[in-house]
Amino acid sequence: MSTPDPERSAARGWVDSHAHLSSLSIDPDVALARARAAGVAAVVCVGTDVASSRAAIDLAARHGDVVASVGLHPHDADRIDDEWAGIVALAATTGVVAVGETGLDFHYRYAPAERQEDAFRRHIGLAKSRGLALVVHSRDAWDDTFRILEDEGPPPRTVLHCFTGGPVEAQRALDLGAWLSFSGIVSFRNAEDVRAAAAHTPLDRMLVETDSPYLAPVPHRGAENEPALVPVVGAALAGAAGHGEAQVAAATATSARTVFAGLATL
Ligand SMILES: [Zn+2]
Repeated sequence: MSTPDPERSAARGWVDSHAHLSSLSIDPDVALARARAAGVAAVVCVGTDVASSRAAIDLAARHGDVVASVGLHPHDADRIDDEWAGIVALAATTGVVAVGETGLDFHYRYAPAERQEDAFRRHIGLAKSRGLALVVHSRDAWDDTFRILEDEGPPPRTVLHCFTGGPVEAQRALDLGAWLSFSGIVSFRNAEDVRAAAAHTPLDRMLVETDSPYLAPVPHRGAENEPALVPVVGAALAGAAGHGEAQVAAATATSARTVFAGLATL
């Protein structure tokens, strides 16, 4: 009789807390099958507009290990008036566990800052009124992100997805009661600050994500990312945070089930 290896059994339980399955070049069903084979227990499929949010809901309806988040990406905040009624309607659909991704991206500034802020505030209000989690994208916009969250009052379950800050920003997020979701960036050579943030974050406040199809972790950089690689991201996160992989797999899966309430039954 073989002894169960705790690392391996924990590896069967990773939760990818943020993936854009309909943006993959491969069929999402194929990506999900590969993820299951790699030990992924569940995937949060995140919309970036009405069309991709609807696709996320369709996937959640067909797969018991997928839940959906609905929102308009800050890159597209210019379209908020056209998209908003659709997002609000979709937020009431079965399988939806969160609102977003929303937030501020002042790195690219594809939409003017005022439009991004308006869209962000609407998403915060929607998450609160529907009792859903909030998935926040923040890039080169920490002060404004925290200002708006504090001003509106953050939803009780708020996630800073693809966390790119250092320990100072991590502490600001923790002070707000938010969870920090770490992506493959934690494995990048020049991401010392993000690794320091991971080391600063309590185990019960961290999540792990692929942000597929973007940000494939080392040693897969340059390839298309997919949820099957979330154990690789998780291993890098464990290394940065100074915990064992099994511990991080279990803690992040538990947090994902807390934050994304619909996952609780999976
Ligand atoms: Zn994303």
